[in-house]
Amino acid sequence: MINTDFNNYKILLSLVDSTSRKIGKDFIKTTALEIKKIFNAKEITITKDDLKKTQNIFSTTYNFKKTNEYLSKIPIVDQNNNTIGNINIFSLSKLSIKKDLFETLMIFAKRIATEIKRIQLENENIIISKQLEKLSITDGLTTLYNRRYFQKVCSDIFEQIKKDKIKATLAYIDIDNFKTINDTFGHNDGDIVLKKFAAILQNHSRKAIDYIFRLGGEEFCIISLNTPINYSYEYLARIMNKTIEEFNTTKYGEITLSIGLVEFDKKFENYSDIVNLADKKMYRAKKAGKNAIVK
Ligand code: GH3
Ligand code: MG
Ligand code: MG
Repeated sequence: MINTDFNNYKILLSLVDSTSRKIGKDFIKTTALEIKKIFNAKEITITKDDLKKTQNIFSTTYNFKKTNEYLSKIPIVDQNNNTIGNINIFSLSKLSIKKDLFETLMIFAKRIATEIKRIQLENENIIISKQLEKLSITDGLTTLYNRRYFQKVCSDIFEQIKKDKIKATLAYIDIDNFKTINDTFGHNDGDIVLKKFAAILQNHSRKAIDYIFRLGGEEFCIISLNTPINYSYEYLARIMNKTIEEFNTTKYGEITLSIGLVEFDKKFENYSDIVNLADKKMYRAKKAGKNAIVK
C-alpha cells in the first residue's frame, strides 16, 4: 500500500498554482497531470458517464495495458450534485486516499464538471454561429446564396483579379416571361418554378468552380472561377437546354432564359461595373427576342 500521508496544503497550493490560469480542455489536462504526479500513477483518465456509455474525455497516456493495476476513482459531481463522471487513477499499488486530500480532489473534480459544461456550451455556440452564418448568406426560398453574399464574393474575386491570381466569369440570368407563370398558375406555383430552376442550377454546378446566387425575383447569377468565357458560354447553353428539357414535361411548359455573360477584368473600376455590364448584356438578350446569351 502506498503511503498517501501527503501534505495536503502543499498539494492544494501546487494544484491551484498549475491550474489557475487554465480553462476548458487545458484545465482538465493539467489537473489530470498534477494528480498523476501526486500519486505517482501509471495513468489518469477523465471519463464522463452518459445514460448509454462512458466517454473518455482525457487520458494521460495512451495504449497503457491495464494489467495488474489498481483503480481509484474520484467522482466528478456537477452543480446539482449529480455524478457525471470520474477521475480514474490507475496505479501499480493500492492507494488509500486520506479524507482531506480526497476533499481537495473533489473540489477539482467539481471544477472539471464546470469545464466539461463550458466545452459543451462552446461547441454548441460554434454550431449555432455556423448555422447563423449560413443563414445570413442563404436565399430563403431557393437555398442558393443570396444577394448579400453575391456582393461579398464579387468584391473578393475582384481583389484577386487585380492581383492576377485568378480568372472568373459572371453570368447574369433572368427567367423569360416569368410574370406569365405567376399570372397563369398563381404566385405559389411561381415559387415552385423558382425552386425547381434553382435545383437545376445546383445539380449542374461544377464543384469549386461555380458559385450560384439568387439576386432576387427571377434573377440569378453564376460566377465561374478560372473558366475561359467560351467554356462558360457552352456551360450556360447546356443549362438553358436542361431548363427547357426539365420544364417541358411539367404543366409550366417551356421555360427560357436570357443571359448576359462577362469576364472579370482588372480594367474595370470596381466590381459593380462588371455586374452592371452583365445586366446590360442580359437586357440586350431580351431585346433580341429572349432565350439567348449575350457575351
Ligand atoms: P421578362 O421576360 O422581360 O424578364 O419578363 P418577366 O415576366 O420575366 O419579368 P418581370 O420583371 O415583368 O416580372 C417578374 C415577376 O416576378 C414580377 C414579380 O411579381 C415576380 N416575382 C418577383 N419575386 C418573386 C417571388 O419570389 N416569387 C414569385 N412567385 N414571383 C416573384
Ligand atoms: Mg427580371
Ligand atoms: Mg424575367
